[in-house]
Amino acid sequence: MALIVQKFGGTSVGSIERIEQVAEKVKKHREAGDDLVIVLSAMSGETNRLIDLAKQVTDQLVPRELDVIVSTGEQVTIALLTMALIKRGVPAVSYTGNQVRILTDSAHNKARILQIDDQKIRADLKEGRVVVVAGFQGVDEHGNITTLGRGGSDTTGVALAAALKADECQIYTDVDGVYTTDPRVVPQARRLEKITFEEMLEMASLGSKVLQIRSVEFAGKYNVPLRVLHSFKEGPGTLITIDEEESMEQPIISGIAFNRDEAKLTIRGVPDTPGVAFKILGPISASNIEVDMIVQNVAHDNTTDFTFTVHRNEYEKAYAVLENTAREIGAREVSGDTKIAKVSIVGVGMRSHAGVASRMFEALAKESINIQMISTSEIKVSVVIEEKYLELAVRALHTAFELDAPARQSE
Ligand code: ADP
Ligand code: ASP
Ligand code: MG
Repeated sequence: MALIVQKFGGTSVGSIERIEQVAEKVKKHREAGDDLVIVLSAMSGETNRLIDLAKQVTDQLVPRELDVIVSTGEQVTIALLTMALIKRGVPAVSYTGNQVRILTDSAHNKARILQIDDQKIRADLKEGRVVVVAGFQGVDEHGNITTLGRGGSDTTGVALAAALKADECQIYTDVDGVYTTDPRVVPQARRLEKITFEEMLEMASLGSKVLQIRSVEFAGKYNVPLRVLHSFKEGPGTLITIDEEESMEQPIISGIAFNRDEAKLTIRGVPDTPGVAFKILGPISASNIEVDMIVQNVAHDNTTDFTFTVHRNEYEKAYAVLENTAREIGAREVSGDTKIAKVSIVGVGMRSHAGVASRMFEALAKESINIQMISTSEIKVSVVIEEKYLELAVRALHTAFELDAPARQSE
C-alpha cells in the first residue's frame, strides 16, 4: 500500500461537475488500496475574482488582508470535494492550512513553508480517511493566514509529500504532462516521458508555468518523486526525476520556455569609469527591483551603453529610478521597451554538446528575428526578442532542435 499526494488544479475543480469527477477518481484510487492526501486549488478564475474584489475597495492592497481574502477560494473546494467523497461512501475530512498547521514565514502573498505538522493527517490516514488539504495557504507563527504565491498549490502538494515521505506526488492538471513547450502555443509540442529536476526548474523559472518554481525546488531538495498528469485522461504523464543518465540519451534540448513578463531599459552615453554597473544597478536594487538580463556595450568616446531587463510590473518604477541615476552620473539618455519577450532553450544535454547556442541563433536568423540580448548558463540559452515574433521564434526553435511530434497520419 502506497501513500500518494494528489494535487488537482483550478480547471480540474472548476465546477461542481468537475469536482464530482475528481471525487470518482479519488474513490477509485482509494478502493485500489492507497492512502491518499488530496491537495486542491480554488476553482479556476476564483483567485483572480477575489483579488479583483479587493482592488475594487482600494488600490493600496494590504498584503495581510489580501491573504485572508484569497485563501477562501481553496476553503470552498476542499469542503465540496470532501462532501462529494462522503456522499460516495468514502470517509474523508478537509483541513485548511491553519488546521493542518502548515507553518510559513510571514511574507504575505509569497510566504515560504517552514514546517508541516503531520500528526493530524497521519491519524486520519490510519483511521482510513482520505485527507483533503487546501493548497496555496499556510499560517505564520503569529496565527496570520499566509499564501504561497500564484500557483502555490503545487508547492503545498510537494511539501506535504515531503513531510509525509509519500511514495509519489501527483500533480493533476489540464495537460497530460510536461511538454517540450507550451502546447497551447505550439501544437506540435511533445509530451516528455521524463525531465530532470534541474531542467524542470529552469523551464519553470524561464516561464513554463505548468509547475510553480518553488514546488520544483522543494521536490529536488527533498527528492520527492513528482509526476504531472491529466486530471481526466488516463496516461503515464511526465516524471520529474534526478536520473540524468537516461535523459542524456534524449535530445540535447529538452524544452523551450518563454515569457512576456519582462521589460527592457537602456541608459546611453554613460561616462565609462570603474563602478558604472554598480552606479546604475545599485539604486535599482535599493528600490527592491530584481534585474534579470544585463548587457553592457564596449565603450567608445569614453562612454558606454547599458541595458537590462526587469519584471514588466516594475518597469515604470525602474524607469523613474534610472532617469534619476542618468541625471546624477551625466548619462545622455534613458529609453525602454515593454514589448519584448524572452525565449529560452533548456537541456542538460547542452553540457556535453558544443554549438547549441549558434544553432539557436541560426534558426532565429533564418526567420529574420533580431536578437536584442543573450544570456547563457550551463543548461540554458535565453534571448530577448521583439514580442511580436515570440510564437514564430518558439516554433522555429522547436523545429530546429527536432522536438516536433511526428506528423499525424490523416484519417
Ligand atoms: P493548474 O490550474 O492545474 O495548476 P496551470 O494552468 O497552472 O494548471 O498549468 C497548466 C498549463 O501550463 C497548461 O494548460 C499549459 O498551457 C501550460 N504550460 C506552459 N508550459 C507548459 C509545458 N512546457 N508543458 C505543459 N504545459 C505547459
Ligand atoms: N488558487 C491559487 C492561484 O490561482 C493557487 C493555485 O491555483 O495553485 O494562484
Ligand atoms: Mg498551476
